[in-house]
Amino acid sequence: MAVFTDVAALIPTLCGCGADVGDAESVQASMMLMADADVVRVLEETAALAKQVEQIQVAAAGVIAVRSTRDRGHSGLSASRGHRSAASLIQDVTGSTKADAARKARVGEALVDDTEPSDASSPIGEEARGEGSAPWYQPLRGALRDGGLTSSQFDAIRRGLGEPPELEPDGTDTDPVDADARAQAQEEARAAWAQAAEHLIGEAAVRTVEELWQQARTIRDLLDPEGAEARFLDRFEKRSFRTFRGQDGQKRASMVFDDEGDLFLETLMAAALRPRRGGPRFVDPDEKEQAASLADDPRTNDQLAYDLIMDVLRAGALADAENVFGTRQAGVRLVQTVDADGNTGSVAHSEDHLVSMPGAVAEQHVCDTGFVPVTVDSCGNPLNVGREQRLFTPKQRIGLAIRDGGCRWHGCDRPASYCEAHHIDEWDRDQGRTDIDRGVLLCRYHHMTLHHGGWRITRRDKDDFVLHHPSGETFPMRTRTVLSYAWGGIDPPPKRFRPAA
Ligand SMILES: [Zn+2]
Ligand SMILES: [Zn+2]
Repeated sequence: MAVFTDVAALIPTLCGCGADVGDAESVQASMMLMADADVVRVLEETAALAKQVEQIQVAAAGVIAVRSTRDRGHSGLSASRGHRSAASLIQDVTGSTKADAARKARVGEALVDDTEPSDASSPIGEEARGEGSAPWYQPLRGALRDGGLTSSQFDAIRRGLGEPPELEPDGTDTDPVDADARAQAQEEARAAWAQAAEHLIGEAAVRTVEELWQQARTIRDLLDPEGAEARFLDRFEKRSFRTFRGQDGQKRASMVFDDEGDLFLETLMAAALRPRRGGPRFVDPDEKEQAASLADDPRTNDQLAYDLIMDVLRAGALADAENVFGTRQAGVRLVQTVDADGNTGSVAHSEDHLVSMPGAVAEQHVCDTGFVPVTVDSCGNPLNVGREQRLFTPKQRIGLAIRDGGCRWHGCDRPASYCEAHHIDEWDRDQGRTDIDRGVLLCRYHHMTLHHGGWRITRRDKDDFVLHHPSGETFPMRTRTVLSYAWGGIDPPPKRFRPAA
């Protein structure tokens, strides 16, 4: 276990605890005695170490990829060892998945200076980076080397942004002015791609890899709208629905979606399966019951999805959609007392059945669905029933969804339709304010975490929201980069590029 001891010795907190770190078992035993903060620190230190090791691995994968290119044929490195591709050799050595090995090869190759971009099928790569200048993804290389990006994040951003389009000359190629203008436009495109990469690097720490890829893809489409349409149409062309029989004689199906169909299906599935996926709570008792019974339903998610699709097909065939998606909107009411001085009771209760709920639950409901102030005397006689105070109207929630694009909590990827609206001011202090500048979208989980865990969100004017941990630590709640692009909120504003026909 000499190697293990060597590695463990590189973790300062672990060594500082004075424990014997001879093997995996004793390491964990000594960590069981550590304070929470130290255990987290050990994880952070090992993660930093793992990043460095991964970097060396990726660099090696890149060299292997470069030495295994097709033009080297059987004398190529991987072929000479009996492997069809560099990725296959890397997979064999590292024991990783095929996709992971291919990613290491891609990223490693992109890190090697002065090589073709690894996407060799793209004829525009050489063109787009200009002669003698660094490729547009140079900032990604830097961030990967400094530990600002993992190789997965690097790959997600680089592949999501794709290569800048090859720009069309305005007139004939022979005109030197046009050639110059074209070269300049090409250089601008390269710079815009590099800038987008920088922005996404800045966001990498608080986004999942999937979301980074999606944002990069959307930014590319915003920068290159015509190319976006071409790519959209390309995916549309590939749409298909195919059925076939398996070996067992049972019918199976395979579907390839175009972008709109993909989104439509996502919303359909989300609406039906949300209670299982942690969507917002239902307030209507019927819907609540439905949600609870869905959670307890013995069917698997795949089975539920199948039944949903068949229901939709049947309903479509019978043109009677309401049988499938009944919509009812009402409200479960919670009652919370506020004394004459404006202090709220710590416990609320439900209007029906007088079930008690922690005050935090009531606050959370107030955020999401509003309230009606009722003044009563000490016998409970209503003296005055105020107007309904719905903090955020459905229209305002649309506004919030457009601004936030999903849960604003750092690192959370829940989409807007899974979110509740949280009002950052306490309602008893700022009653009735319906300013969407003071509201923020949070997924159900994070909305609950906030109200039950003593967290707080503040905002100065139109600055970014700031999340405060009870300990005083703060986290910026950054807007999604792709939205800054969509609204032109970056400096300088994004240009649009016109690709060659
Ligand atoms: Zn709230
Ligand atoms: Zn969240």
